[in-house]
Amino acid sequence: MSELYDAAIIGAGPAGLRAAIELGKRGARVIIVDENPYPGGQLFKQIHKFFGSSVHLAGQRGFLIGQELMDSAKCLGVEFWLSSAVWGITDHTLAVLHEKNTHEIHAKKIILATGATENAISFSGSTLPGVLGAGALQTMVNLHRVSPGRRILIVGSGNVGLIVAYQMLQAGIQVAAVVEASDSIRGYGVHAAKLRRAGVPVLLRTTILAAAGRNRVETATLAHLDERQKLLPETAWQENVAAVAVAAGLTPLAELAWIRGCAFGNSAALGGFIPLHDADMKTSVEDFFIAGDIAGIEEASTAMEEGSMAGIAAAQELGFCSTEEKDREKKLIYQRLETLRSGSFGHIRQTEKIKIFTKMKGEFDEVRIDL
Ligand SMILES: Cc1cc2nc3c(=O)[nH]c(=O)nc-3n(C[C@H](O)[C@H](O)[C@H](O)COP(=O)(O)OP(=O)(O)OC[C@H]3O[C@@H](n4cnc5c(N)ncnc54)[C@H](O)[C@@H]3O)c2cc1C
Repeated sequence: MSELYDAAIIGAGPAGLRAAIELGKRGARVIIVDENPYPGGQLFKQIHKFFGSSVHLAGQRGFLIGQELMDSAKCLGVEFWLSSAVWGITDHTLAVLHEKNTHEIHAKKIILATGATENAISFSGSTLPGVLGAGALQTMVNLHRVSPGRRILIVGSGNVGLIVAYQMLQAGIQVAAVVEASDSIRGYGVHAAKLRRAGVPVLLRTTILAAAGRNRVETATLAHLDERQKLLPETAWQENVAAVAVAAGLTPLAELAWIRGCAFGNSAALGGFIPLHDADMKTSVEDFFIAGDIAGIEEASTAMEEGSMAGIAAAQELGFCSTEEKDREKKLIYQRLETLRSGSFGHIRQTEKIKIFTKMKGEFDEVRIDL
């Protein structure tokens, strides 16, 4: 049997790293496991400067934020297992594929900060090579420096679609268009404006009908929708593209929480089914916390705050800090979260979070929390 850690954290994204830092600086023995070879979760492939405040290291390029957080955690004695995937979980034990073998990690508290996975959409030809998630395209281009081809199409105008489109331009790849089925841009106007200034059409009420090609994508067929989202087939046209990147939203990556038996709730605004949790980020299962996009799709800054909250709450339960200290920190965290969630999208998420917290105080049965 391996040694007993005070806390094991799954996911070295902004949420997991901040949880590790809060625990580490209070003297807890912590291990953090991530299947990627780099720290930062979504951040290691972000070459743009993050928006937000300096508290959340904004103004820096994403991949540098992950590295900085890992360096801080390492200085506090946090152990890192990168390129290591957690594939099983029981009470206080994780099964981890590490250096080609399965190892067990035992910990008094477990924090799940696994982030989110990209949503796929189905259309004719959507299984052809060249149709990929926008996040996968980012990994290919920003990390591995491999171009998918000279001209691509982006489906979805949320922040991910808009940012990835701009990054492709920076890499010298033409973007035929960003298409969006609804009648408004789903991400920040500032990102869409940058694309438009660069000559990329952002087409609303437009969808992809098909991707086609001999062995891989060569063309995409697009068409407009009417104001009731009904397809207008007579408007269909074809674009020559080498890839179609789908940015159709994210879903919390919560399989390990299902396996562990957590109670779940469904909130469309937070990305689907998420483990119920209280304001300390505790789930319905004892000694089991969550933080970040797994607790509802938001941003790196909110993920960091939730990670800090989970870390401090776990540290308090372990006896590394007093209840007074936890409550003091919690107040500050929730003040910052309220500011971060004060925009129009954020406001909806704030309301949904309160519903989740309220449900946690009741019975832990499965609930639907739809707007
Ligand atoms: C294109 C793009 C641009 C963005 N721009 C911004 C921005 O400018 N500002 C901002 O605030 N936010 C931005 N975000 C959002 C931000 O990146 C995420 O909200 C944030 O990274 C979520 O943090 P997290 O720690 O919850 O999860 P993640 O960052 O997703 O990290 C989760 C980690 O868990 C690991 N993991 C998952 N399952 C396992 C397992 N079984 N075993 C081991 N490891 C596992 C993953 O490998 C991953 O490293 C952007 C996101 C994208 C995609």
